[in-house]
Amino acid sequence: MSLQAGIPSGILDGDLLQCEDVHRVYPVKVSPLFRNLLEKPGDPIWRQVMPDVRELRDEGPLAMEDPLGEEARSPVPNLVHRYPDRVLWIVSHVCAVHCRFCTRKRRWTRPVALNEEMIQRALDYIARTPAVRDVLLSGGDPLMLSAAMVDDLCSRLRRISHVRILRVGTRVPFAAPERITDELVGVLRGHHPLFVNIHVNHPREITPEAREACARLADAGIPLGSQTVLLRDVNDDPSVLEELFVELLSLRVRPYYLLQMDLMKSTAHFRTGVSDGLRLLQRLRNRISGLALPQFVVDLPGGYGKVPLLPQAVEKIEAERIVFRNYEGRRCSYPLVEGEGPVLAKLLGKDG
Ligand SMILES: *Cc1c(COP(=O)(O)O)cnc(C)c1O
Ligand code: SF4
Repeated sequence: MSLQAGIPSGILDGDLLQCEDVHRVYPVKVSPLFRNLLEKPGDPIWRQVMPDVRELRDEGPLAMEDPLGEEARSPVPNLVHRYPDRVLWIVSHVCAVHCRFCTRKRRWTRPVALNEEMIQRALDYIARTPAVRDVLLSGGDPLMLSAAMVDDLCSRLRRISHVRILRVGTRVPFAAPERITDELVGVLRGHHPLFVNIHVNHPREITPEAREACARLADAGIPLGSQTVLLRDVNDDPSVLEELFVELLSLRVRPYYLLQMDLMKSTAHFRTGVSDGLRLLQRLRNRISGLALPQFVVDLPGGYGKVPLLPQAVEKIEAERIVFRNYEGRRCSYPLVEGEGPVLAKLLGKDG
């Protein structure tokens, strides 16, 4: 595939040659809808999907090819078992768009496509591991598979009695909403309880088409959540996140995770400090509906799992009381149960 095939002619001009180099390593892919949303270099959609020469310069000691240690935690290919009761199953190697900050971009040129043997091995693993209650279909993007394929995978998972819930992680409702057809929605609603968690990063992605796609899913009784990657110069701004989260809630999408960037090689120019995420949450907490506020999460390098972080609201712990600061900066104290001070101090990481 040539670079120009995927993007409007003339849009790259002078940078084309350098971008061809990036494209060879990390291929460019932009969905028709996102192509229409591109306005100018550096805009929030542009930065997410258009190549940047900095992708080839990120070779620092922090740059990893598999920052979440997923390969090491895959008992069978494409199935990541990191937590006791749930697995992440990479069922598709195709996405509607190639997000330049993707943690799994190593797979764009080395896809491990799912074949029948691998499907069977994953199903066998899940079937013989009764602790697994929750199967998260991921990718790539599972909703780039045909509706028949999604139906087949979900049906086979549903035959395993200890699998209670299914989850689908996808960017399709915003990046390629035309794929959320009545047929696909009919398939998904046939496998309840099934949750769809949607990747969305900026209010500009909330188009009329995406609104309709979310409405079709929600009307089918599918609980919708979102995950948003905190991206430098895309959405690291309180008013942008406020608009995004409040709008999502109005689409019946409950903001679930705000993710700190992983240490993926070639993505350093997107990374914000951990303090930025906390500062943004602090600005939004209590000012917007609690339902609209996601958890801020760092997915630890090496496969140690996700850790949620909260801005500290505890000022100090005294012998008989704990002193809080509310979102307006006002102090307020709350009485302690006798003797709990040291336990509380330890749980909150405070010396008292
Ligand atoms: C994120 C993730 C999950 C799901 O985690 P939740 O916190 O339950 O949403 C499961 N497995 C892997 C490997 C993950 O990265
Ligand atoms: S949709 Fe997800 S898996 Fe696909 S390129 Fe974007 S971040 Fe990566």
